[in-house]
Amino acid sequence: MSQSFSSFIPPTRVLMGPGPSDVYPQVLEALSRPTIGHLDPKFVDLMDEVKQLLQYAFQTNNALTMPISAPGSAGMEAVFVNLVEPGDKVIVCQNGVFGGRMQQNVQRCGGQAIMVQDEWGKPTDLNKVREALQANPDAKALAFVHAETSTGVLNDAKALCQIAKEFDCLSIVDAVTSLGGSELKVDDWHIDAIYSGTQKCLSCVPGLSPVSFSEKAIEVIKHRKHPVQSWFLDMDLVMGYWGKGTKRAYHHTAPVNSIYALHESLLILQQEGLEHAWARHHQNHLSLKSGLDKLGLELVVEQKYRLPQLNTVRIPNGVDDGQVRSRLLNEFNLEIGAGLGTLAGKVWRIGLMGCGSSQKNVDYCLSSLEAVLG
Ligand SMILES: *Cc1c(COP(=O)(O)O)cnc(C)c1O
Repeated sequence: MSQSFSSFIPPTRVLMGPGPSDVYPQVLEALSRPTIGHLDPKFVDLMDEVKQLLQYAFQTNNALTMPISAPGSAGMEAVFVNLVEPGDKVIVCQNGVFGGRMQQNVQRCGGQAIMVQDEWGKPTDLNKVREALQANPDAKALAFVHAETSTGVLNDAKALCQIAKEFDCLSIVDAVTSLGGSELKVDDWHIDAIYSGTQKCLSCVPGLSPVSFSEKAIEVIKHRKHPVQSWFLDMDLVMGYWGKGTKRAYHHTAPVNSIYALHESLLILQQEGLEHAWARHHQNHLSLKSGLDKLGLELVVEQKYRLPQLNTVRIPNGVDDGQVRSRLLNEFNLEIGAGLGTLAGKVWRIGLMGCGSSQKNVDYCLSSLEAVLG
């Protein structure tokens, strides 16, 4: 081999896309602490604290609350493979990319996904959901995305879970982008199964997926007719490792250092306080919005349903999408997101997530956009 290799030194970027978001320096520092054994009693204590801090972040007393050792997509898969069996009907709401992934998960579990479709950039229509449940009284679950990162829409999770409860079916919620950024109350809203990610509003490194299951969901899992087809994501087996008590069975090796990192980011969230974190995300969104107005840039989503941590901006006519994003990256070290699916080429997605939700980032993004757009 003639090529010589050396250590990778990443450029210093400002991450204002759909995730990952900027990571807290304290979290990076926690990540670099010495690795210890994953069954070391000190690590087991840390796992218990992580569970408690996650219960706070999710606002739940659910005993089955823990991080899955893989990114948000694995949390999504964990929820579906444990709750959906062949022949089960699940109502899936789609108004962006991630609802489509829920549909695929249901189908791969052998279930039938009954789709409630809404336009991308619009919220899920509660009346349509009600109609779908009336037409399918045997539906086992209602699944929806709380914060649709592909469009910047915040769906009404509280109302959707209320409808699921009325029809006596489980509620399955994607909270990858909402956890830590928008009001979310797992117990008050009667959410049965929820998954999130670490790299969005928690400002932790990517690669972990916090999940939580209600007692009702656990009962459903316990009474399954078929074994969960995924060995790694079978919650029954995972619980033997993450469960309470001293008898921890080896299941897989936890990503020890990533758990240090998650613990640190949850500690920061707890110290700030959830309500403060939600209010900060909202405040910085308003500040970005008023700056975008001055630049003549429009948001795609109607005010009532806007997701503060992900702002979808319409690309003005005649402006080259790719060129603007690459100039922002190369000249300003600023990453913003491109549009996905039906919105590709039509929008930019500006993230204000976790520690990236700051006045400093808002100002930097606005001044960089102004310079590039001339
Ligand atoms: C980012 C995201 C995911 C997937 O998370 P990964 O960590 O990328 O696997 C799922 N759902 C939503 C709403 C997201 O924004």
